[in-house]
Amino acid sequence: MIYLDNAATTPVRREVLEAMWPYLTGEFGNPSSHHEIGESAARALAAARESIAVALGARASDIVFTSGGTEADNLAVKGIALANPRGRHIITTAIEHEAILESCAYLVRHHGFRVSEVPLGADGLVDPAEVERLIRPDTTLVTIMHANNEVGTVQPIEEIAAVVSRFGVPIHTDAVQSAGWLPVGLSTLGVDALSLSGHKLGAPKGIGLLAVRGTIPLEPVLHGGGQERGRRSGTENVAGIVGLAEALRLSSSIADSAGKVARIRDLIIDGILDSVPGALLTGSRRSRLPNSASFCFPGTSGEAVLLELESHGIVVSSGSACAAGSDEASHVLVALGIEPEVAKTAVRFTLGSSIDEVDAADLVTRVAEAVAALGSSRR
Ligand code: PLP
Repeated sequence: MIYLDNAATTPVRREVLEAMWPYLTGEFGNPSSHHEIGESAARALAAARESIAVALGARASDIVFTSGGTEADNLAVKGIALANPRGRHIITTAIEHEAILESCAYLVRHHGFRVSEVPLGADGLVDPAEVERLIRPDTTLVTIMHANNEVGTVQPIEEIAAVVSRFGVPIHTDAVQSAGWLPVGLSTLGVDALSLSGHKLGAPKGIGLLAVRGTIPLEPVLHGGGQERGRRSGTENVAGIVGLAEALRLSSSIADSAGKVARIRDLIIDGILDSVPGALLTGSRRSRLPNSASFCFPGTSGEAVLLELESHGIVVSSGSACAAGSDEASHVLVALGIEPEVAKTAVRFTLGSSIDEVDAADLVTRVAEAVAALGSSRR
């Protein structure tokens, strides 16, 4: 099987599972307990937090562990926007993950916020000057994703952050898809907060974090026992956190292989554009994740291409797994100006670091055959 759906999720890496194992078994303590078994868990938690903070150019106290990317995004949007006394205005884009868009929609519905969406070009890229134009005296948060999960477009976050911080407005980025492939961190990107999710990086599902600078006030979303300095209550997922720290440590070697993966991505893009009539690359050609290639194949259906490829042992996504089950055209593709009927023909290939040229050539051949077969069966 060739698994090309790494933006949906990744397998847990062996080293990650091994690092987690003690905290699921012998050292299973609750880090809040005042006995040796609890204190051992607390030490592991502190060490993992420290190592993650170093990797993300943050302080240990800036790291708030969450149940994943969705919760981190909810905490960023609701937590930062509600705590900021400047007002009730948020700036974002139409191509964010639903965790951001729905959190903004909640603030509009229940807290009287206004949301401005930065206009996007057909390549899905944000112009920092457009962000600047939208900043108002009552803007409480700018949240713009680092890399898009459907089309792989990478935003110029460093430049956007430089503009936004001139106005004293907090800036958050969803780095769920870019972590592991591109350098991410509060200082590297110049942002005040960033979300990350373990299962996109070789750690398990159900662990993630929000890194948020200590100077940014944060209203908690989950109330309870006051863990995570009162910013996220709930007994810490010690094993998951240890696994996330290990996955981040190992991901520096994935980042080393990003150049190789990007070359194979380009072979796939060129191969498909050359051999599949009508194929349309979605998102920016120039500024995209090393492991992401996404297309529309007008005249087919994304779901049918997915099934055809799966019958040949190639696993891909027909859009965003996070919106799985919905038959609607992707909000991301529609925001890039793609007709809804064409958007429904979207297929996304997200590579893993073990991809090679043989897999790439096989993929291109199979896609060309699948699209040709589906096209002719419709005539
Ligand atoms: N943000 C982005 C960009 C994503 O791609 C995803 C998941 O696909 C999430 C957030 C949500 O992360 P999680 O699955 O950990 O809740």
